[in-house]
Amino acid sequence: MALRLSRSIVGEAEACAVSRVLLEDGYLGMGNEVRLFEEELAVYLGVSSGQIITVNTGTAALHLAVEAVAPHGGGEVLVPSLTFVASFQAIIAAGCTPVACDCLPETGTLDLVDAEKRLSAKTFAVMPVDYASNPWHLDEVYDFARRKGLRVVEDAAHAFGCTHHGRKIGSFGDMVCFSFDGIKNITSGEGGCVVSFDAQATCRVSDARLLSVEADAQKRFAGARSWDPDVTRQGWRYHMSNIMAALGRVQLARLESEFIPARRALAALYKKRLAGLDDLVFLQTDPNDYIVPYILPVRMLHGRKDSVKDILAGNGIPTGVHYKPNHLLTYFGGGAVSLPVTERLHGELLTLPLHPGLSAQDVEDVCAALHAAL
Ligand SMILES: *Cc1c(COP(=O)(O)O)cnc(C)c1O
Repeated sequence: MALRLSRSIVGEAEACAVSRVLLEDGYLGMGNEVRLFEEELAVYLGVSSGQIITVNTGTAALHLAVEAVAPHGGGEVLVPSLTFVASFQAIIAAGCTPVACDCLPETGTLDLVDAEKRLSAKTFAVMPVDYASNPWHLDEVYDFARRKGLRVVEDAAHAFGCTHHGRKIGSFGDMVCFSFDGIKNITSGEGGCVVSFDAQATCRVSDARLLSVEADAQKRFAGARSWDPDVTRQGWRYHMSNIMAALGRVQLARLESEFIPARRALAALYKKRLAGLDDLVFLQTDPNDYIVPYILPVRMLHGRKDSVKDILAGNGIPTGVHYKPNHLLTYFGGGAVSLPVTERLHGELLTLPLHPGLSAQDVEDVCAALHAAL
């Protein structure tokens, strides 16, 4: 089978769970499976199940989380430019303005010194991104937010299963958003959730995913419906379905036993085989963080990225680019600001294949091709 950059790891167990919903339960919308998935996510993260709000994508999670904490009329959110387009689009969807910030050259994560320079009277939140599953300096981000009176909406799409200084991502903080799209650390076949540490925001997000029909989620979980509803805010059709939740529950059960060890072992093998190679540098991580790598970008120095990418492609090895910086995209200013570190890093970053379906031999083959190329 051809080597893939990333892929979903789903099989018989997921198929059985989905077919159980289809054939036995017959209720495909948001009901019991979603309730159980939220409860199991809460147990995994060590929070109460009321703090977990599942939605149909990670982008929807970010949108609702920003919207729930935004001041009336919107405002500005500090966000690293080096992220998936979803972070920026979600902020705009919430009626707010993304302010692109530079990143640190060693990690690709938010540069707080640069972010501080971009504060304005309209700034109400910061959105750190755990780039390549790296919660680098997350405690400092929270300190910064506390000092400046900002909310924190974490884009933790890469970081499900990771730990920062001994605490699981999603077990502490303000508003934490995960993605369960097809290739993330776990999938519900598209999906995501918000973990909320603010009671008012929890209600807003929970209602907003169901068109802001008040307390509709709780009614659905009890098998009831809202025949006499009230609506006081804008809402969206963002809830998770029983089909998705059934799939996600199986994935969550496989995370610690299969996915985490596989991802970590493959990444460790890459590190070992590529150590000391000229012009190839791994991103820095904190030894006190526990990282479950979703992607494996490395830095190719001295302008060698494109030629190495081509050579690998010629050997049947796909590589990726995470990400084209958002501040260069037309809708987000088309390069009206310049972010020198982000732009330089973008010229260096090359993502190597990584998913639990790779064998050690696959990684050996990629590493051999990299040795030959360099
Ligand atoms: C995957 C991802 C998202 C969005 O998640 P979807 O579930 O695909 O909508 C947001 N931010 C980052 C950094 C991501 O990688």
